[in-house]
Amino acid sequence: MQPLLKKAGESVAQQVEHIPFKDGVLGSSPSWFTQAEVARSLLFYLVEVQAVQKDKKMNIPLTYHRRETTTIQVGHLTIGSSAPIRVQTMANTSTNDIESSVAQALRCEKAGAELFRFTTQGAREVESLAQIEKQLHAAGSTLPLVADIHFRSDVADLAAAVCEKVRINPGNYAPDSQSVNERFSHLLDLCRQNQTAIRIGVNHGSLSARIMEQYGDTPEGMVASCMEFLRIANLKRFTNIVLSIKASNTRIMVETVRLLVATMDKENMHYPIHLGVTEAGEGEDGRIKSAVGIGALLAEGIGDTIRVSLSEEPEAEIPVAKELIHYFVDPDSPRYNENIIITYDEEKNSLFYYNTEKDWNQFQLHAAAECGRLLWQYNCDKLELLNPTFDLARVENLSKDILQAARIKMYKTEFTSCPGCGRTMFDLQTTIAQVKHGIMSRLGAKAQGLKIAIMGCIVNGPGEMADADYGYVGAGRDRISLYKGKECILKNIPQEEAVEQLVQLINSDCA
Ligand code: SF4
Repeated sequence: MQPLLKKAGESVAQQVEHIPFKDGVLGSSPSWFTQAEVARSLLFYLVEVQAVQKDKKMNIPLTYHRRETTTIQVGHLTIGSSAPIRVQTMANTSTNDIESSVAQALRCEKAGAELFRFTTQGAREVESLAQIEKQLHAAGSTLPLVADIHFRSDVADLAAAVCEKVRINPGNYAPDSQSVNERFSHLLDLCRQNQTAIRIGVNHGSLSARIMEQYGDTPEGMVASCMEFLRIANLKRFTNIVLSIKASNTRIMVETVRLLVATMDKENMHYPIHLGVTEAGEGEDGRIKSAVGIGALLAEGIGDTIRVSLSEEPEAEIPVAKELIHYFVDPDSPRYNENIIITYDEEKNSLFYYNTEKDWNQFQLHAAAECGRLLWQYNCDKLELLNPTFDLARVENLSKDILQAARIKMYKTEFTSCPGCGRTMFDLQTTIAQVKHGIMSRLGAKAQGLKIAIMGCIVNGPGEMADADYGYVGAGRDRISLYKGKECILKNIPQEEAVEQLVQLINSDCA
């Protein structure tokens, strides 16, 4: 067990000596503008340390024990508990644009991606994947490729002969249990012949009608959907499988993955897990949300490969994924040194997190990855973050953002968006900016607490924005459909009218 408060045996005066500040340690004359921060930091630090010493607060220990899993092979890459946690991402190019796809894959590999996925709608995309693979090898790349399949089990069969891994979605793979059995058994045979791995990738919001009828869109339904496929694979003794269960709601995602692991354990199955939060969005909000969901599970030792889905260029996802892995897994991570203190105050039902990280991006990821799960664990709705390097207002806003990402308190409008892929119908980043600007400039506080999803395509968008109050969905080139919950309110309207129509729709509901 790794104690957090390594200096608990020292006097308060000795502890003060060690408090790191912006310009070194206390006593090294921080500049005038940091005096207020220093005073506040010192006060908090002393109160926390003394409270822990007097047993008034619980000092939370931090450990990391990786869940033991089977090891699978994806091309040259191993995934599972005997291998490092793998970083992956997905192309947002059209799969048939071979030149752009190859260039993007090479950029991502250079940034540290170990696995790269392409949307694969039909036979033409499978052929393109074969070309992309050939060109990547010619360029010296060893990046294993993954075909992302929805709705077309026949395309999964074709891709099994071309790619190192095929991702299928149990929610749209086959219409009934008999066809699931027949088609998936056939795919398993093809994957065995070609030494291809499979990801069974379940998403909240895209369960089959059959599962929805029995369980609704619940964690139990998502796990049942995954287990149906796993049991078929088990009977056929096919084990080259990795699993994912994703949701945009971090709490649902975490609970469901835990339930999946517990269900597998009961049946003596120990497959590796791919972690991700869907439609996390972009910028700081997207990073915080991903860190809350992925971090909660990494902290429990669950997770063998991760993808941070951001509505940005895929290269931008890699450093975030790497930092999350480093924070939990590496023994030299700040998590396991003396500069982090976490306490829980039962009386105030408040969580306190102190971290002396000097890089804002890292502090933000560390705090979100650690605090989300603890807020849930202690059923706590107050979070006090402290870092003497950054100004108070910025740190306080981060506490609010973490509480919102963990779905504990809604302080602002939540914009979620898919990461984009070869199916995306518009320029994702420009569209997100237009929708955000339109909503915030016209509705402002009226939209506080609403969840608005911006989804690139009509194929997967409406299902996967399961958690949103309103949806802006790419229905075709320059065409948008607007949703209220799961109901399509305006279909195929011109894109130039869509933001205004969305504003009016929300406004009339708020009136
Ligand atoms: S919603 Fe559509 S466009 Fe967006 S990532 Fe999913 S499949 Fe691609």
